[in-house]
Amino acid sequence: MSRLLDLLETFSGLQRSWDYVVFLMRMAGAPQDNSFVGTAFPDGFSLFFTDNAEPQAIEQLLLHEMLHEWLPTAFPPLPPPEQDMYWFSERFTEYLTDRLLRDWEFIDHRIFVEGMNAHLQLVATSPWADLDHEALERRFFESCEISELTYARGAVLALLWDLLHIGTRQCIRFARSEVSRFDLGFDHESVGRDGRIVGVKAGGPAWRAGLRDGQRYTSGQWNFKDPEDNAEITIQSPDGETRTLVYLPRSPKPVNAVTATAVEGCSVKSGTRAGP
Ligand SMILES: [Zn+2]
Repeated sequence: MSRLLDLLETFSGLQRSWDYVVFLMRMAGAPQDNSFVGTAFPDGFSLFFTDNAEPQAIEQLLLHEMLHEWLPTAFPPLPPPEQDMYWFSERFTEYLTDRLLRDWEFIDHRIFVEGMNAHLQLVATSPWADLDHEALERRFFESCEISELTYARGAVLALLWDLLHIGTRQCIRFARSEVSRFDLGFDHESVGRDGRIVGVKAGGPAWRAGLRDGQRYTSGQWNFKDPEDNAEITIQSPDGETRTLVYLPRSPKPVNAVTATAVEGCSVKSGTRAGP
């Protein structure tokens, strides 16, 4: 609770005349409960949390929501339609949230860089990485994996602009690398329609594991964010026998990626944090 009050006080330093109300409510819960939930209302935000809720996650949510309300007061209103400006209103807000938490020393610089690295990784390895901005925005609500990619792209763009603006003070080193793009090796977007496997790429990872067009799909598990994590696809033969195929969902051809590292011993100039 004291960290949240500290964050509110620090935030209020951005614009002292700003009218915004925040309700912080501790919820009763079992000792292991670590949940939190928030609701925005005009000029305010309510945040409910249990004692074990992860401080960083709560602080990110609270600051993100406050910045949503604060940005339009600091800049001209964004032109409609709203979703066309998500790249700025959501993605830049996400970046600014982490940047301010880092600058105000609520999170360590290393954690900030790790977060950026996750965005950089997703931008390179997502199966939708080749879609352009318009196509991604059109498909924004299709799945959280697609919407996460749009967030990652916005955060990377914000980071680049930030670096151009303030230069080396960010204490981040970048390196190029080659990574595998996530590729399940079959048309996973069609699999739900009639329960049959379609679009298996000959020679691809699924094909090599034994997956073929026409097989009956029963279940699957994979992590779009990590091509180095095994995919598990369960299929059923005509006589009812099931078999689980396990393979790394990696594209045959590597793609270029950028990795960020926090520079050892480099001090990030921090802003002013409220409190003792
Ligand atoms: Zn938001």
